[in-house]
Amino acid sequence: MRSEPSAVVAARVPKKPRTEAVKRQQKRRHRFGELGVPEVLVEQLAAEGIESPFPIQQATIPDALAGRDVLGRGQTGSGKTLAYGLPTVMRISEGDKSRSAHPAAVILAPTRELAMQVHDVLRPLAQAMGRSVVLVAGGMSYTPQLRALERGVDIVVATPGRLIDLMERGSAQLDEVRVVVLDEADEMSDLGFMPEVTRILDEIPSQAQHLLFSATLDNQVDELVRRYLHDPVEHGVDSAQASVTTMRHELIAVTARERPGVIAQTVNRPGRTIVFVRTQMDADDAASRLRGVGILAGALHGGLPQGLRARVLHAFREGKISVLVATDVAARGIDVDDVSLVLQADPPHDAKDYLHRAGRTARAGEDGLVISLVLPRQRRRMARITRDAGVDSRPRPMHEGEQLAELTGGTKPEGAAITEEQYRGIVSPPRPPRRRGGGGRRHYQGGGKGRHQGRGHYDRDRARKPKD
Ligand code: AMP
Repeated sequence: MRSEPSAVVAARVPKKPRTEAVKRQQKRRHRFGELGVPEVLVEQLAAEGIESPFPIQQATIPDALAGRDVLGRGQTGSGKTLAYGLPTVMRISEGDKSRSAHPAAVILAPTRELAMQVHDVLRPLAQAMGRSVVLVAGGMSYTPQLRALERGVDIVVATPGRLIDLMERGSAQLDEVRVVVLDEADEMSDLGFMPEVTRILDEIPSQAQHLLFSATLDNQVDELVRRYLHDPVEHGVDSAQASVTTMRHELIAVTARERPGVIAQTVNRPGRTIVFVRTQMDADDAASRLRGVGILAGALHGGLPQGLRARVLHAFREGKISVLVATDVAARGIDVDDVSLVLQADPPHDAKDYLHRAGRTARAGEDGLVISLVLPRQRRRMARITRDAGVDSRPRPMHEGEQLAELTGGTKPEGAAITEEQYRGIVSPPRPPRRRGGGGRRHYQGGGKGRHQGRGHYDRDRARKPKD
């Protein structure tokens, strides 16, 4: 089981008087059963080692179960999937089971990776209550999604682009939705999905319960809240500041010549590391340079075929590769535990990106280290970004060697180069058995229909062409 996040939960609306008894009760560790979660789900959670609700769950579940609209501020890692997932499953399981073929709940997530994770968390819980879930996301075959919708499904976990697609085909009908969840609403707005999101929300009956989760409340998200949520209760893990304080932040001043050596030594360490770079090409270059010095590193960016991206992520999650070199957009929604170091090889665009990147470590209250490399010409910009992000750290010079080893546990790489072939062997699926009459290898698993295949339709392109 994981440790509980240390973040403080602040319930802002409505304000209840905090008597001593209430305060004492709030300090006590709760159990899910006390929040109204039925035994069958409590057991299901306990089997996963999940016994005491995290603060955001403790705060939001009772209100969501009472049918209130909820505005939850919390980043990936705070436990928000169960915070909205449990009430969603429970609310749609109320009443008799005879149901219409149209879905009763819709959960929207910005990326396919996040949608897949949400789907994987909710499916066993829904099944325990006799309800069904389908994943509706781009870059995947249409057939199972269409079949599930045709048969009738209770919960749809979707990325906006594909859901609109299926709505336009008449396959997804949202007229009976009773609960709608927006997960990472701020990221959906960053990725240019807002028009799709409002289009979907406009199709859903306005009296449906709306649960909106977001790390930040910027203008666009605020607009959604005003337009669609009725008298929402707001609960927040004060994510930005809280996670910033459970992490250690270090800025390292490097010259362009030192930079590659410092990157290699920093990531040559036990534990999982995510390295952030600016462009897809930088990600490929840095990952292959690291493999060249014997470090198991993989690039993750939108220029890669969908199937390969999923396999790289899987290999990282399984610990088969220890370093992921990613672009900002590709890294969104990555939900991998135990990332102990985030290395910003290139500076983030702004404070918001700094926090998103940093949020890949120190998840669920664990410790994490965030290192940012700063070239002389980047000093001023970095100073502004860290100030805006609430990080109090100044660049200090650090060269390969002792100091760096002390900070990260990293040592100068001395292993043999990992060849392309070896790397492909690690991230490729095993060859299927040869079938008569062909039986070729199938590397690319994404795609489905023609227009979804191909490269480079995800990253920034995706922001402009949100239809996955
Ligand atoms: P999330 O923010 O929903 O992505 O959750 C982050 C991580 O915390 C996931 O690995 C969850 O399995 C885990 N988690 C969520 N809630 C709890 C809990 N109450 N107790 C222990 N682990 C949890």
